[in-house]
Amino acid sequence: MCQQTQVATVIDYYNRWMKRWPTVQSLATATIEEVNEMWSGLGYYSRGRRLWEGAKKVVDELDGQMPKTADSLQKLLPGVGRYTSCAIASISFGERVGVVDGNVIRVMSRLRAIGAESQQPATMDRFWSLADQVVDPDRPGDCNQALMELGATVCSPKTPSCSTCPLQSVCKAYSMTKSTRSSSCQKFFSLSSPSPDVKKRRGATGKDSSECGLCIPADQWDSSAGVCNFPRKAKKKAPLKEDYVTAVVSRHCVATGGNEYFLAKRRGEGLLAGLWEFPCLQVADSSLSQKASHKLLTEHLRDACAVDIRSLKSTLLGEVSHTFSHRLHTYHVYSIQLAAMKSESCTDELGDSTQQQSVQWVEDINSVAISTAVRKIMALVTTSTSKKKTASSATPAKRKHATKDTAGGSSNAKRTKTATLDSFVKKEKKA
Ligand code: SF4
Repeated sequence: MCQQTQVATVIDYYNRWMKRWPTVQSLATATIEEVNEMWSGLGYYSRGRRLWEGAKKVVDELDGQMPKTADSLQKLLPGVGRYTSCAIASISFGERVGVVDGNVIRVMSRLRAIGAESQQPATMDRFWSLADQVVDPDRPGDCNQALMELGATVCSPKTPSCSTCPLQSVCKAYSMTKSTRSSSCQKFFSLSSPSPDVKKRRGATGKDSSECGLCIPADQWDSSAGVCNFPRKAKKKAPLKEDYVTAVVSRHCVATGGNEYFLAKRRGEGLLAGLWEFPCLQVADSSLSQKASHKLLTEHLRDACAVDIRSLKSTLLGEVSHTFSHRLHTYHVYSIQLAAMKSESCTDELGDSTQQQSVQWVEDINSVAISTAVRKIMALVTTSTSKKKTASSATPAKRKHATKDTAGGSSNAKRTKTATLDSFVKKEKKA
């Protein structure tokens, strides 16, 4: 996860995870619900699931023995790709294999002035072969970690610290930009020196840049960017836009005094599978009317969750957007309020054993495995609820104010205001 998120965020999750499942064997006894719950809020849920699936495979099919080479790790464990297998094999078992991640790509592309688009298969092959060549045979794990760390701390994407970099003397990108700088200086002071011409520059392979597939094309060179011309990335595609209507169905539980929310579990294999969410449905038309959205949502609740609340009213709360890797989801959020529940058990009057999708009522939605998008939707619900409370507390105050003002003057109005404020504060404390 440290590839995606900062260590400061991951560390707490890591400590809690290791405390609960310190061994592969103990992780294998967990359920996917427990794993998702532990992972909740970290994102990239498929990683938690893969870790759990891998532990089960090791215990159930590999006699409790972890594969020890990059090849066998990749072949035998689900979700273990080239990077993970090489990192485990070199760091844990001392196998002489290099690793390539985003940081290593940046360091390698600068060291060797590789200016081809870094995500292209041919370029990636070159990075992997370079990583295998440079790895220290005696301490492959340390060497790989050092390269990744150098990329994370010294050879950073936008502000590399070349002046203090231990690889400066062998860095082609540095020497290229250094010669550009000294030539500009010489030009400035009118010294005769051939101007470095990127068009004629020879790349790492020794060929002219126009012939070499790994050199940076002349028209892509930005002289103000220096070493940051490397690595060269393909332009990002705009994320795929998808619209959803989602129903926040809630009820007040008299016994606990809190609100409960109706959640459904996502099925299938894809993105967010196995996580809990407010029932939602993808729609083709982002400007769907409230009436049409209500119809779609309540029919969906009936069909997927065995819940029939078509006769109830829904209120549009607003929109929430969230980007999941390459998809931009926009949720059109509707609130549907049910009558208060009187019994403490809060037994479902919604959903039964014939329901298609697993559902549950939850008071604290953070206690179950949910995605960041669902958290954002909940934040919208909370904001709307507190705005509503404020408005309903303020409205009677204004009315009373007007009545008292005409009847008894400003001192009466002041008393009314204070009394209303007191009751508002009390309500807020209760809430
Ligand atoms: Fe990166 Fe600069 Fe070091 Fe080269 S000299 S590896 S560009 S930090």
